[in-house]
Amino acid sequence: MSWKTLALGAAMLFGTGTFAKGPVTNEGHYVFDSDKKFIKLFNKFEAITIDHMGDKGYEVYGPKGTGKWIESLGIESINLEDEQSLNKNRTLFQDYPTPEAIEVELKKFAASHPDIMKLESLGKSIQGRDLWVVKISDNVNTDETEPEVKYIANMHGNEIVGRELMVILIRDILENYKKGDKRIVDLVNNREIYIVPTMNPDGSKSMRRGNAQWTDLNRDFPDFTTQDNTNTTDGRAPETQAIMKFQAQRKFALSANFHGGSEVVNYPWDTTSDHHPLEELVVDLSTEYASEVPGMHDSNRFPGGIVNGYRWYEVDGGMQDWSYHWHGDLQVTVELSNTKWPDYSQIQSYYDKNRESLIKYLERVDQGLGFTSVDKGLRGTVEIQNLDNGKNIGSYPFGNGEYYKILEEGNYAFKVQASGKSWNFQRSVKFPSKVNNGNFVSLESL
Ligand SMILES: [Zn+2]
Repeated sequence: MSWKTLALGAAMLFGTGTFAKGPVTNEGHYVFDSDKKFIKLFNKFEAITIDHMGDKGYEVYGPKGTGKWIESLGIESINLEDEQSLNKNRTLFQDYPTPEAIEVELKKFAASHPDIMKLESLGKSIQGRDLWVVKISDNVNTDETEPEVKYIANMHGNEIVGRELMVILIRDILENYKKGDKRIVDLVNNREIYIVPTMNPDGSKSMRRGNAQWTDLNRDFPDFTTQDNTNTTDGRAPETQAIMKFQAQRKFALSANFHGGSEVVNYPWDTTSDHHPLEELVVDLSTEYASEVPGMHDSNRFPGGIVNGYRWYEVDGGMQDWSYHWHGDLQVTVELSNTKWPDYSQIQSYYDKNRESLIKYLERVDQGLGFTSVDKGLRGTVEIQNLDNGKNIGSYPFGNGEYYKILEEGNYAFKVQASGKSWNFQRSVKFPSKVNNGNFVSLESL
């Protein structure tokens, strides 16, 4: 059969109107396609999403009727996600806290550590649940001149390990800070750490990938390689909009988002085969994360426990590409567990495996260079050049009299232009930096 004939079959099953709406996750199927014969066909439809490419096959998500269509193509598959199987599974996993129990836990943390933790809602999910972000820093109620780093977990509701690990990480940092653990005190005092344990509480409540309207949140961000290439929140899920607005208010330099279904660190780009402008650095950070985690660094499938997103499988509308393209915030996707919803008793062992990497990654935001001005209204552009190899890192806008960028180790020249004035400085970037509050140059001191 030609692709045209196959596509026609799909159009008859779904109705052609479905295709214009973007990815939906009403159904999920594991498709056995070791030759990857059908990838091209699935990729033709905006409503269809592919995930977790493996040797034997991959996951396919789509609207109602997707399973019937796959069956009609004569492809062997297993149903992963429909209302019936979700209800069946729900009883198996009742040991996990509900989103409401997570909220209670976070409020307790904030109440007992008000000096270094603040809890804020970024907005509401479809079903009206708050999307909580935890800020951890010294002088937590002040926006200090410190590098900003963030973690977001559980954007796919049924990938639950990340949410649990974030809650344990928050508790770990708070308790060790109180005990005076030198490393944790330094981590907290010199950075602004933001953690969103669950971006999709509705999905986690019903154990499904999408939000309450079956939207795949990690396909819902603006994609700079498609027609959806403006950074606007219009028409997106409320959960996506909340993250977009939050990011626009902050100045994140480094971040990670956490998933399940594999054990690997996936680095950008996802949507194009082009090299990332900070590829050497992002490979280094990914390798460092994976090097401490059994199951990643010893992976047969992913050498070194890392993989380039696009080379694995193309993702359009993902958060990690959006984050760097629009906000210069370098982001990787960490796949924490082969099993998306493991037995609850295993959660602590996942944390123990990942603890060193989770802390180290937050520390690494220190490897950068920035500037600050006493004029908090100062906005303009900064041009950055690597003096060791002459490479132009790019020209970036800044506002609020502050800018910070994570960079590969080396020597850099910054040219700052704002309000008809210009400032030039050169500094080296090293890790550990041994400079409090990262490396911020005061423009007034130049
Ligand atoms: Zn995921």
